[in-house]
Order: sequence, then C-alpha cells, then structure tokens
Amino acid sequence: MDMQKTNVVVIGAGTVGAMALWQLSKREGLEVVGIEQFGRVHSHGSYAGESRVFRTAVHEGGTYVRMIQRSRDLWRELERESGRDIYTEVGALSIAPEGFPDLVTALGTVAEFDLPHRVLSDSELRAEYPQHRIQDGDIGLLDAHGGGLRPEVAVMSALDVAESNGAKLYFNTPVLGIEERADGVVVRTTQGSWLADTVVVASGSWSTRLFPELNDLLRLQVLGLTWFMPKQPELFVPERFPVFLRDSGPVHFFGAPSFDGYAFKACTNPEWPVFRDVAEVPTSHTREELIKIGQRAAELFNGINPEPVRQSVHHCAYTPDRLPVIDRSASGRVVTLTGMSGHGFKFSPQVGEWAAQLVAGEDTTVDPRFALAAHLERLAVTGPYTGGGH
Ligand SMILES: Cc1cc2nc3c(=O)[nH]c(=O)nc-3n(C[C@H](O)[C@H](O)[C@H](O)COP(=O)(O)OP(=O)(O)OC[C@H]3O[C@@H](n4cnc5c(N)ncnc54)[C@H](O)[C@@H]3O)c2cc1C
Repeated sequence: MDMQKTNVVVIGAGTVGAMALWQLSKREGLEVVGIEQFGRVHSHGSYAGESRVFRTAVHEGGTYVRMIQRSRDLWRELERESGRDIYTEVGALSIAPEGFPDLVTALGTVAEFDLPHRVLSDSELRAEYPQHRIQDGDIGLLDAHGGGLRPEVAVMSALDVAESNGAKLYFNTPVLGIEERADGVVVRTTQGSWLADTVVVASGSWSTRLFPELNDLLRLQVLGLTWFMPKQPELFVPERFPVFLRDSGPVHFFGAPSFDGYAFKACTNPEWPVFRDVAEVPTSHTREELIKIGQRAAELFNGINPEPVRQSVHHCAYTPDRLPVIDRSASGRVVTLTGMSGHGFKFSPQVGEWAAQLVAGEDTTVDPRFALAAHLERLAVTGPYTGGGH
C-alpha cells in the first residue's frame, strides 16, 4: 500500500487526542489525521465512566489553576461549537477534617487565585447537604467554578467538530510504530502507513507500547468507579448535590450527582498495585472489594443502599509526581502528550490548545517541568512511581 502524506497525525482519539484534533482542525491550511485503535468513543480509555470532576480549587496547588481556568473557557467554546451539554457547573464540594493537608492546600489556592468559594462548618454542611454524613470537626470548601464534565460527550463533541472542520479520522486502526526520518515521521498502522510532518502522541495508558523510552517514567494506576442507589434520589440530583471529594481518616472518596435519576457515583480505590501494561490491569472489582467500598460509602452518605448498582474498573498513565508529559522533541516532529496522572480530564482542552501551538512551533505557556527531559531528571532522583494517592 502506498504511503499517504499529511501535515499532522494524532495517535489516539481519546481525551487529549480529541482535544488536540479539535484545536488543530481550526488551523487554516493544515491537513490533520486522527488514528484510533478502537471505535469513535469507546469504553476502554481513561475517559470512560459517565462523569469527571472539574474543580478550580485544586489541592495539587496553584500549578494547575491557570490551565483549568483556560479549560473552563474552552469547555464552553466546545459546547457552543458542538451544540451539546458537556459541563454542568454545580460546584465542587471538598469535605475533610479541619487541617487535612489537601484541604489546607486547596484553601491556599482559592486565596492565592481569588477563586469564588464558600467555606462551610460542620453544622452548615449538615443543614445544607443532608446527603453527606458529617463528622464533628469536618469542614467543607465549595468551589463555585467546579462541577461535572460528561467525558464521553466531550470526546464525541471534539471529534465531531474536528471532523466538520476537515480533520480525517480513522477508527479501529491501531498504530503499530512510528519512525522519524529526515523527510518526516512514518506512522505504521494496521491499515497502511502515513508520512507526517509532525506526529502528536496522545496514546494514554498505551504510550509505553509505542515508546519504550517512557517505560521507566510511566506506570498505570487502576481507578474504580461505583454507583449507589439512594433511598431519596431527588436529593442527589445535580441542582442539590455538587460533585464532591471526601477525606475521612485514610479513606478518600470522590463522586458526582445522579445523572440517570436513580444512582449517584461515589468511588474509592482499593489497594491496587501499579501496572506496566494495560493487559495486566484487572477488569472488575472483586466481590470483597465491592462489599468494603459499600460499607465505607454507607459511613459517608445518608440513606444509601450499600451494594454498588454499577461498577467499572479503569486505568490511567501516571508519572511519579503526577505532572503530565507535554513536550516537543528536539527535531520538532514529535509532540508527546501523556501521563495525565488521574487528573487530566478537566484540563485536557488546554493540553489540546498547547498541542496545536507546539505543532506550529509557537511559544506556549507549558510549564517547563512538563518536558520529558525534566521528568527524566526528576525520575533519576525520586525513582519510579510505586502507587498511592488518587
Ligand atoms: C476512573 C477514572 C476517574 C478519573 N476522574 C477524573 C476526574 O474526576 N477529573 C479529572 O480531571 N480527571 C480524572 N481522571 C483522569 C482523566 O480521565 C485522564 O487523565 C484522561 O482521560 C487521560 O486522557 P488520555 O488522552 O491520556 O487517555 P485516553 O483518554 O485513554 O486516550 C488514549 C487513546 O489513545 C488510543 N490509543 C492508544 N494506543 C494507540 C495506538 N497504538 N493506536 C491507536 N490508538 C491508540 C486509546 O485507544 C485511547 O482512545 C480519571 C481517570 C479515571 C481512569
């Protein structure tokens, strides 16, 4: 088969691949191709599972705030361009004992960036959010610019808009390898090869298969999702029940209101090890894990049935310090976007915008710590990611 030529090939049409395709497709005169191993919006990627938490008051500190604020504008832009509802700004409520380190950092972030918020005492939490079972001494931080994203709808929307702008998308077409040459980059797929001026690698959890040089840096963390049926589902609808993060002792829960009218999402991760390859990741919770998660959920929420009514298990590529890899190679021909480390959905539109700027060789505001060389330098000091933390 003849080698086809194009300006840019994006490998992976998942979260950041879809956002990169959307942004690249806005560039005049640029021929853009997206290649995805599965179908258009599938259930295998790191974006699967109905909802993702969006919050600006991040406990990871200020690094991400500007990325997230820019993404908030871009989420609205994607909604306008696609005509679909993607982001519901119902607020994001963090609840933890006063002095809990992540909450202290988040409070520092809201102060530093003057983010709209409310701080709630334990009695205010009990009065306003009776769905949560509150301990004495808990405090709440309500991030007014937080809310819930619909990931499958977001990916579909970005791909549809990219395609209507002229991007060519190929599904069920695994990329087998890439090879840089003097005249471009050869992308070898099961359906033939492409020669591209630039390649954008957005292959998420599968990145080490294409780039063994990422082997030491990336590990797959397993993230499970569980949904519970409340006795009064009307209390758990988006208007009354913001997306949430809860910390109680060593237990961390996160979740979202009911979008289906009968169940809400409340998740915590069993002690799963980290893995190197997607093929090793468990595909379901065990019975024991589901019982334990249900018991913990019943301690944190009022009036719920402790048996998860739905559950699924997913994975995401992590770096040791959870900073993403956003980089352009020295040749300028390979742009790498990976290691979204369990928090990359909310800021994926900013990553997509950066991807288009990196392909064009423009200046960007990418944090220099996201460069691959900077990651590898830090890795030499910290050693590989060994797990822990969502
Ligand atoms: C359960 C769970 C809950 C999460 N909760 C949140 C949250 O609340 N808020 C938040 O901001 N983030 C959250 N995250 C993190 C966020 O969802 C991920 O960081 C993000 O989706 C990763 O995007 P990605 O593009 O790197 O990977 P993906 O979305 O998985 O995309 C990678 C794509 O590349 C394709 N691909 C790979 N290899 C090839 C190949 N060789 N050829 C062709 N195609 C290929 C894959 O099929 C896939 O479609 C969560 C993650 C998980 C798993």
